[in-house]
Amino acid sequence: MGWAHRVRDHGGVLFLDLRDRYGIAQVVFRPEKLDKPSMERARAIGSEFVVLVEGVIQRRPAGSENREMPTGQVEVEADAIAILNTSRTPPFPLDDSAMASEDLRLRYRYLDLRREPLKESIIFRHHMTRSVREYLSDEGFLEIETPLLVKPTPEGARDYVVPARLHPGKFYALPQSPQLYKQILMVAGFDRYFQIARCLRDEDLRADRQPEFTQIDLEMSFVTEDDVFAVVEGTLHAIFQRDLGKDLPIPFPRITYDESMARYGSDKPDLRIPFELKDVTQVAGESAFEVFRGAKAESPAKMTGAIAVPGLATASRREIDGFEAAAKQAGAAGLAWTRVKAGSLDGGVGKHFDASLLPRLLEATGAKEGDLLLFASGARVMVQRVLGLLRTQIGNAAFKLDPKEFRFVWVHRFPLFEWDEGRKGWSAAHHIFTMPLDEDLAYLESDPGRVRAQLYDLAANGNELASGSVRIHRKDVQEAVMRVIGMKAEEGQLKFGFLLEAFEYGAPPHGGIALGLDRLVVLFHGGDSIRDAIAFPKTASATSLMDGAPASIDPADLKELKIRVEV
Ligand code: ASP
Repeated sequence: MGWAHRVRDHGGVLFLDLRDRYGIAQVVFRPEKLDKPSMERARAIGSEFVVLVEGVIQRRPAGSENREMPTGQVEVEADAIAILNTSRTPPFPLDDSAMASEDLRLRYRYLDLRREPLKESIIFRHHMTRSVREYLSDEGFLEIETPLLVKPTPEGARDYVVPARLHPGKFYALPQSPQLYKQILMVAGFDRYFQIARCLRDEDLRADRQPEFTQIDLEMSFVTEDDVFAVVEGTLHAIFQRDLGKDLPIPFPRITYDESMARYGSDKPDLRIPFELKDVTQVAGESAFEVFRGAKAESPAKMTGAIAVPGLATASRREIDGFEAAAKQAGAAGLAWTRVKAGSLDGGVGKHFDASLLPRLLEATGAKEGDLLLFASGARVMVQRVLGLLRTQIGNAAFKLDPKEFRFVWVHRFPLFEWDEGRKGWSAAHHIFTMPLDEDLAYLESDPGRVRAQLYDLAANGNELASGSVRIHRKDVQEAVMRVIGMKAEEGQLKFGFLLEAFEYGAPPHGGIALGLDRLVVLFHGGDSIRDAIAFPKTASATSLMDGAPASIDPADLKELKIRVEV
């Protein structure tokens, strides 16, 4: 039983490719074997009809085998056929002969899910999730569900809210993550918790996000970041072994946030790209180029940074202009360049470098014959951002990066706070329950900008895959953090009083992390966006084209909820 994938009428003999979840089999209907009504039924089969066939599986006649197909050696010689259901003509072909627009595919998601790539992705997701469950369970983790109707959680996005009918005027929030509840589970003594948890965030959906997505959410008691890293490494190692048949080298390398910004201009570096950012403030500042001299004079607040792109001395002026446009868009005043050719600097700012500086510049940048040198000068943060962006852009365009070469890296010791220009105040870089580094505790209130946190991300190939932290379990530290971000004690009480209270009853030191499951599926299995890893995803404007959500509700329901809509 299955779906009619393709029907070919060879005048007399009829071939049907019958498809189900497990694959496709060829069925042959021969007029000499079947009675007339059966043959007529077979001829009536249309695309995506649901059919039942009885017959004998046999070798295909010599010469008609299909090596492309796993079942290409055999066919089913039909001796009975029933049509279990008809189908309207699908609005797009399901055999990959032409790609329909994504909107059309989202509208008819159940048809798109019948197609090989999406189906395989959903199946992979199941297997991967099972590996995670098995591995973590074997490591002593307990899978515990946390509520979906919650007090607002502190992940920093907008909450989706649900009116509480029994408490007119009050609302539940849908959880942005199980953060508070998993911490309370630590207080409750469940020292190893995990959950395959749905998270809901009402954000403007930038770059490949979904309003609801899934995390592999973990929390552990009596741990340092090393323990958390080891569990995540073990989990990914298990996925690689069980679902990809590969041996993943662990442990992963670790770099600090500062080093990541200095070397890659990004907190989620792609280590496959074969060049890094270099600080050339000193040697460039000795050239005759005014901008470089200025940066040296004002260092360390300002700097001149460079990337040496291997082999790209062949880049045309137009390409270099393109790089400069990208740099300017990212906030640079300009982008300086030169080529390393025939043992000297060719073009661009090359003429400002005295020959005696050349060896030092080559040494500082690591540039070799045939490389293109790109320089940005100015405020350190801007220079890192701009060169980091160019590194990613040029790295992806000019080098064949293998999507199946996974270069995992831990980035840790992030700053605890970020300066919020709009609010003119500090806000938590991750969330307010993140523990500062012990050695920075002393500056918590006197110099919040220099406080680093026990805060870590896992990145691979330019993607952020996980974030987590060791948490604050001391009341005084928690209160100090709240003061720094300008949260009044009463506000804290109102929002997370229940957590703070729980912390007063013997909260163990604890920490955790959450991995984005949807993105892992796409990274490991393939796909264009996390929509390909989710059975029923939403569009960029958070709508579901299949069922039409969100939708209005009945005025009677609104009345019962005591809600008046003003639109
Ligand atoms: N709740 C955090 C998040 O969703 C993860 C964590 O800190 O464990 O980013």
